Amino acid sequence: MTEPTHPANAVDITGLVKTYRSTKGRPGKQALKGIDLAIPRGSIFGLLGPNGAGKSTLINILAGLVVKTSGEAKIWGYDVESQSRMARSSIGVVPQELNLDAFFTPRELLELQAGLYGVPAGERRTDELLKAVDLTDKANAYARTLSGGMRRRLMVAKAMVHSPPVLVLDEPTAGVDVELRKSLWEYVRALNAKGVTVLLTTHYLEEAQELCDRIAIINNGELVANDTKANLLRRIDNKKLTIAVDRDLTDLPPALTAQGWEKLDARHLTVAYKPSQTPVGALLSALGENGLGIADLSTEETDLEDIFLQLTRRVG
Ligand code: ADP
Ligand code: MG
Repeated sequence: MTEPTHPANAVDITGLVKTYRSTKGRPGKQALKGIDLAIPRGSIFGLLGPNGAGKSTLINILAGLVVKTSGEAKIWGYDVESQSRMARSSIGVVPQELNLDAFFTPRELLELQAGLYGVPAGERRTDELLKAVDLTDKANAYARTLSGGMRRRLMVAKAMVHSPPVLVLDEPTAGVDVELRKSLWEYVRALNAKGVTVLLTTHYLEEAQELCDRIAIINNGELVANDTKANLLRRIDNKKLTIAVDRDLTDLPPALTAQGWEKLDARHLTVAYKPSQTPVGALLSALGENGLGIADLSTEETDLEDIFLQLTRRVG
């Protein structure tokens, strides 16, 4: 067996296919259609995609929870199947579902988990981990009494008991409030600064934008993008401008319709535009030229869905 100590890629996936068989309750599904993906050592890598794209399937194959149909997946150079023990010891996974045993305390859960991974008592980092996820106060409270945010943090600590070089978080901040989201991000950054490679899945573009240096987008079991954040954001050339006007509108002047303006209701107009092609000033002055005063305005970056449309259009 080879013992790669510092592979260039923390995770290496080639031609990964997963076809779920149909069961009584569920139809069969090809969830991954031949994914090639390399996650460079030391990165914070975001795997983005809408619900059902295949993110959890990919993560669960890495975690050893789902058996791949074909292709190859390596963690820290170790094959998830033929070197499963080494692969598993190289990865910590925070699953999408919060499945904590409610009748243990955080301290007990971390100790148990360390035991499962064969971490000797003298090398356990229970207190350090509790502190890192801000649960020192709750060390001896039953897990069932913890808030959702605390449970999420405890799951992160649990994934780190064996000090894996790769940490995987599946939708870490879904349904989590803004404050906790920020503190989780900070913790992820701190781990990354210590050399941990982080892979996280999310359907929040903002999260990927904030945290990740590389981003891959998966859609319907296929990778539609895989690039540095900077390059990817450059490709996202869509914004939305919404205006409240100062009087009731009946019909839009043709000049505005031609620019792409749409009426939302009697007092609101919206337009989707490409900042690289249409300066926002041209949109605003067109309103004035057509006799409309602006009472208020807001702009929005496009959301993930728009980016998908853009990317899939470009690919297809
Ligand atoms: P994501 O995490 O991106 O939301 P998943 O990996 O959970 O996506 O699911 C990908 C696709 O595979 C979905 O269409 C989902 O319904 C299907 N799927 C997931 N798990 C199973 C399963 N155990 N059996 C059948 N189909 C499944
Ligand atoms: Mg999922």
